[in-house]
This record gives sequence, structure tokens and C-alpha cells, in this order.
Amino acid sequence: MNAKAINPQRREIKTAAHKGDFWKPCPGTSDDYLCCGYQILTPMTGCGMYCCYCVLQVYFDHQHQTFFENFDDLENEVHRKMGEYETAGAAASHSSRRHVVRIGTGEFSDSLFQETKLGLSKKVAAIFDRYDNVLVEFKTKSTDISTLNQIKTPKKAVIGFSVNTETVVSRLEKGTAPIIERLKAARRCADMGFNVAFHFDPVVWYNGWEEEYCQAVSMIYDHIGDVRKIAWCSMGGFRCMPSLKGELRRLGMDLPLFAGEMILGADGKLRYPRPLRVDFYRAIDSQFKKHQPGAPLYLCMESREVWEECGMYGRIAGYEIDPLTSFLDDRARIILSL
Ligand code: SF4
Repeated sequence: MNAKAINPQRREIKTAAHKGDFWKPCPGTSDDYLCCGYQILTPMTGCGMYCCYCVLQVYFDHQHQTFFENFDDLENEVHRKMGEYETAGAAASHSSRRHVVRIGTGEFSDSLFQETKLGLSKKVAAIFDRYDNVLVEFKTKSTDISTLNQIKTPKKAVIGFSVNTETVVSRLEKGTAPIIERLKAARRCADMGFNVAFHFDPVVWYNGWEEEYCQAVSMIYDHIGDVRKIAWCSMGGFRCMPSLKGELRRLGMDLPLFAGEMILGADGKLRYPRPLRVDFYRAIDSQFKKHQPGAPLYLCMESREVWEECGMYGRIAGYEIDPLTSFLDDRARIILSL
């Protein structure tokens, strides 16, 4: 199931003026799944690496990266929306808890792959620096952290590393950093004062998956000395728009990603059947518990029933409204000392 060589167009960076909103709520809003309440900021789109499961290859009608030159508009939109958030949050709040915003840039591009050249993450961090209730996350499969020391307040940023097994990285992720290098970079970020996060997404089935995913969890803890630096960790089984399957076939790639039975989820995406996803989550969660019993680990785009079936619902059960969002907001409050 090897990924093909990287299409050279993916290395191109074109500039454009972005017309719509730069800031949008995470679209994971099907009523069937517990929502994490994450916000997405998009200063650029596309990626110079190539993961064969990447949704961006069917999401856009081109392969190049697009750098939005009207960064001033992004900045103005952030300040306007922060004002609206403050007003709405204060009006809706029935408790003394401070409203928090968790926002990240790694949805339509890799947050750090072009950081040395474009410096977008440090610029985004600077925009939010004046707000004490915002935690901004930069998600990556690279190790390009050399400019992060220019971020003024590292404790208000999370550097989120996508983690997978060495088998998945070597076969499905072209141009990304090896896992061991990502974890070394994570340790350096933690030592610089940043919070770090680890995302097991996508979890992929293959013979031997369980042992290797458990190994990957242990590798995290081998590298991160102080577990208080871990903001959160997540897991999500492989899922994709159905058109990805056709696109990979068109590219002549073999499709073991789709070898077993897949079902259509409530979000219209293909995903593994529930018993297999529950197996994934139970195995990975139990390995986390061996290293950190209270690890802030959550499921991405899963129903309450799946949370319960894999024994993870207890950690968010105390929240009556939007339990996953509330759980992560509380985590952010602790990190931000609110
Ligand atoms: S690193 Fe992320 S954005 Fe880049 S190809 Fe892989 S999945 Fe897509």
C-alpha cells in the first residue's frame, strides 16, 4: 500500500487573495458525533508532503499550495470575531468559568511545513498574544520548529504532532518526518515552554496494527519527560470522502486502505465498522493508561455510544452540556491558568 512519489505540483506555492472567512468552526458537527468545539483558521491551503489518505487531494481541484496574501484581512477578522466571542460568551455564561477559544491552523495545510519560508504560525501566534483566553494549536507531520522560538508566549500555543506507526508512515506518508524525529521535535518544543499534543489520526488497520500502535504510544512517553506538557491527545479511525477512493484508483494506487468492509458514516464519509474502531480505541487507550492514567485523550468524530463501548465516556461524563467541548475547554483553562 505504498504512497506514490510526490506530485511536483504539490511543492509549488501560489499566492491568492482569500475572499471568504479565514476563521470557521470545525465542520465535525453531525449530531451523531460528540463535537470537540474546535475552531479552524486558514492562512494557507495545500501541503508539500503527500499522505495517500489525505483528503486535500480531492477537496481542492488543484495540488499546489496557496498562500493567502491578504493576511491583514485575517488579522482584522480575528479581532472582530474575538470581540463577538467575548460578548456572546459573557451573555451565555451561567457560571464564573471564563470562556476559552481553542483554535488551530492545521486543517487545510500542515501548520509548520512551510514555517521557515512563510512564518505563518509565528504570525498567527502574535495575533492571539493579546488574548489570555485563547490556546492556538499548530498541527504538523514535519519537524520545522526552528522559528518557533520567536513566539512570544509559548505557553499559549500547542504544537500538535500527528503520530502513527512506522509502518503507516513509511508506506502512506511521503515527505513527512519519521516518527522518532517528530517525537524529538516535540520534546524540544516542550523544553521551549510550549504545550504539545499527539494525534493518532488516522488509525489504519493492517496486520500487526495493535502492537505497533501501542509501541507508538510508549515512544511518546519515552520522549516527553513532563506529562503536564501534554495538552491533549486524540484518536480517529481512518475515514474519508468516498471520492478519495475513486481518485486513488484513478492514480493507479492499490487500495488496501479500503480492503476490508467500510461503512458510510452519518457525516457522509467512509469509515471502518464500529467493532473495529472500538478495538482500535480500546487498545490505544489502555496503552495510554499504562503510562499516564489520566491522559487527556479524546476521540475524534465518534458517537456517545462508541465512547461508552470503548470505556472512555467516564472522563467526560461529568459535563452535562457538550461534554467533549467542555472537557477540552477545561483542559485549556488549566493550561492558560484561567
Ligand atoms: S501532512 Fe497533512 S496536509 Fe499534508 S498531505 Fe499529509 S495529511 Fe495532507
